[in-house]
Amino acid sequence: MSEEKNDVIIGLECHVQLDTDSKLFCGCPTTAEEPNSACCEVCLGFPGSKPVLNKKAVDYALKVSMALNCEINKEFFFSRKTYFYPDMSKNFQITQYEVPVGKNGYLTLSSGKKIKIERVHIEEDPAALVHESGLAMSRQTMVDYNRSGIPLVEIVTAPDMRSPQEARDFLDQLTTVLQYLGVFDEREGTLKVDSNLSIKGGERVEVKNITGKKGVEKAMSYEAVRQKGVILKGEAVRRETRAFNEKTLTTRSLRTKETEEGYGYIFEPDLTAFELDEKYLNSIKQSLPELHDSKAKRFVQQYSLDGYTAGVLSRNPHLGNIFEQAIKSVDVALAAKFLTRELLGILNYNSLSFEEADLKVEELVGLMQLLEKGEVSEKNAKQALIKYVLEKASPRKFIEEQGLKKDLDETELLNAIEAAVNENRPAVADFKKGEKKALHFLVGKVMQSTKGKADAREIQKKLKERIEAE
Ligand code: ZN
Ligand code: MN
Repeated sequence: MSEEKNDVIIGLECHVQLDTDSKLFCGCPTTAEEPNSACCEVCLGFPGSKPVLNKKAVDYALKVSMALNCEINKEFFFSRKTYFYPDMSKNFQITQYEVPVGKNGYLTLSSGKKIKIERVHIEEDPAALVHESGLAMSRQTMVDYNRSGIPLVEIVTAPDMRSPQEARDFLDQLTTVLQYLGVFDEREGTLKVDSNLSIKGGERVEVKNITGKKGVEKAMSYEAVRQKGVILKGEAVRRETRAFNEKTLTTRSLRTKETEEGYGYIFEPDLTAFELDEKYLNSIKQSLPELHDSKAKRFVQQYSLDGYTAGVLSRNPHLGNIFEQAIKSVDVALAAKFLTRELLGILNYNSLSFEEADLKVEELVGLMQLLEKGEVSEKNAKQALIKYVLEKASPRKFIEEQGLKKDLDETELLNAIEAAVNENRPAVADFKKGEKKALHFLVGKVMQSTKGKADAREIQKKLKERIEAE
């Protein structure tokens, strides 16, 4: 069966939790330990309660819209999206429908392809339903209203993505932008995506409420295969809404798809229309940081880095900052290599984010300086870095205390080489016969006896000279 590549069509609706202290329309805090402890008459929708818009949420939504190259609607208002469900105690969600904050933007994928952003709008999060699993008879669902009214921006794309991998890349690029803007609450579950997939010419299926980037890629992969299977059987794909199961990585039908019109949107009478003046918009624009695309370009120009390295360094705002601080006192190439290979390698291997690792630039710079001056071998520098990342042990101190400084003098190194050659004659003989592995073995022996204080390359060079002189 030949697989046609471009027949999958994906569009995303991404709900991003904004990192504000209080909720969207009331003063309740956005974090609370006890269920149902952070709610009031406004976020529960008691009769007579009046919402007041959180200005910070508008600032953040504007930043997101501008960073996604959107046109800004200077006048906007809110609407009530009517629905009846236990997660929405007032039977409507305050959202934006007719006029969103931002529209007609785009986000560039790592391939350079542009994905159109149709709209960016502000809305409140519904409550959280907590499903208690127990005996079938006593199974119950509880509701936690702490989440009601937490500010979200919803970012809606055009159906421009052609594979689950492109959808994943879009979300990677989007979260990078959000990290740069510093508006994103990055805790688990703060990115929720409704993802639409259709096979060219077929009906669109929406998979609702997928948590996280990996989940979207998995759910879309399953949907693509499922829908192609339906078509192969000669049947038509039904327009419907499905749910994703994170454990089985499958989707199941929830209901035949409702239309947006079915929600009976009406104007929210408790919030007046908002008008943004030019001065305010300019101040938001001025506050936008340099984003990763432009930073990568600047790194290439300013520091003569290759495009790939510049891209890796600017992908994470923290890494870019560490790099630019480090090169005030360390060689550019050394810092780039150290940060992108060693540091990122260790973080990725241990599944640590920069936030979790909480690294101090001075400590990293101190270690890079030792490397630059040749006072520590690459191997021992890496060991010190691992200790630092995982145990917060100061690298300089660690190297000092463990006696890992490269304080071997030439004679000590030559003596160690002499000993290795004399004690391992069979390996020397093998190397002379052309076995390269034998040389690596001998290098290892010298590394051992010199406690990794000399660099492997140097040992290898001197070993070769020694053996070839025989
Ligand atoms: Zn409240
Ligand atoms: Mn929504």
